[in-house]
Amino acid sequence: MHESLVPLDEALAMLRAALPMKGLPQIIADRDDPASDRSAMDGAALRCADGNAPRTIIGTLFAGDDPSAFHVGLHEAVRIMTGAAVPVGADAVVPVEDLRSEGNKLFLTRPPKPGEAIRLRGSQARAGAILLSYESPFTAARVGLAAQVGMKAEMMGRLQRIKVGIASTGDELVGIPLPHQIRDSNGPMLTHLAHRLGADASNLPSLPDDPEALRQHLSNLGDVRVLLTSGGVSMGEKDYLPVVLKELGANILFHKIRLKPGKPMLLALLGDKVILGLPGNPQSAYLNALLFLPLVLSRLEGSPERNPWHHAQLVEAVKNRGERPLLHPCTLRDDQLTPLVSKGSGDLITLAKADACAWIPEGGMAAGETKYLQVI
Ligand code: AMP
Ligand code: MG
Repeated sequence: MHESLVPLDEALAMLRAALPMKGLPQIIADRDDPASDRSAMDGAALRCADGNAPRTIIGTLFAGDDPSAFHVGLHEAVRIMTGAAVPVGADAVVPVEDLRSEGNKLFLTRPPKPGEAIRLRGSQARAGAILLSYESPFTAARVGLAAQVGMKAEMMGRLQRIKVGIASTGDELVGIPLPHQIRDSNGPMLTHLAHRLGADASNLPSLPDDPEALRQHLSNLGDVRVLLTSGGVSMGEKDYLPVVLKELGANILFHKIRLKPGKPMLLALLGDKVILGLPGNPQSAYLNALLFLPLVLSRLEGSPERNPWHHAQLVEAVKNRGERPLLHPCTLRDDQLTPLVSKGSGDLITLAKADACAWIPEGGMAAGETKYLQVI
């Protein structure tokens, strides 16, 4: 019976395979780095050959100044700031800590060492060198590097957040519920979560349990790149999402995973859109979004994958009958996970009290180390 359930790791691998990551283009040094000899300290640029002898200060160079105004000669020095180009004639920079000045005279507390505090031209890279190979994931440091070599255009688009739409489904969802109806808690919850994960998230109007309405919605996603739906994805008679996606020609990567809660989870590609069909029960919707949305976003952004798992000590045994690993709500203090009493996948109250959800393997586990997802 459980053979058709996709294990979590496999589901994530399927997603990686289906959504190739678009990394950065190659980054090539457009010039030597540094492009001239530079001072690494605030101090004085001078000649080592003059040893400990006092120097005459002939001027000052700040970062960005053209050094050709100076030529450091016998017993001369130029005051120099970090990042300023080293003038011709100087072969060391003595830091201010080792200098004393009187008028335009400079005294050294020790002899300079050749090349000290100078970053030589090309010492970090030569013009034309490949600094980063093609398709490296996009990181903030690499943005900096791309800017350093003058690649502005490539970076700008990447700063845009991925547009994620959140649409709850269910005829039972209303603003002012009668006893047989409920409010939409998943919509705001998932919108908040997507925002926390770095998406440009918008809570779309919720959808009725009506295949035509679903079809319309899925066919008109506009600039939404990722759609999170909740509900309508399991075995109920009004769970239309899988069938409508199939009719629209979507590529359903998987439907039903080996996880508790969250089994009915579906993931599909519809044209260039990614559809996360999350189950309606709040714990399931939340946890599946927390597991799959970061990976979807990192693929679309081209950013490195972040491992959502942490490790801590579970302080007491947790039962888990059945053949699916369980994500169980816990409090977390001082690296200690204390299980809460959860009434299952529909129990948003317990999830809201939790700091973490601990991974409990099939069959349950005794107290001891386990991995967990932080509730954010
Ligand atoms: P479904 O997956 O549509 O069968 O829904 C499973 C359970 O989750 C049902 O009890 C629904 O009423 C509930 N549910 C579905 N959508 C939401 C929502 N947006 N907010 C809160 N509960 C929901
Ligand atoms: Mg429903």
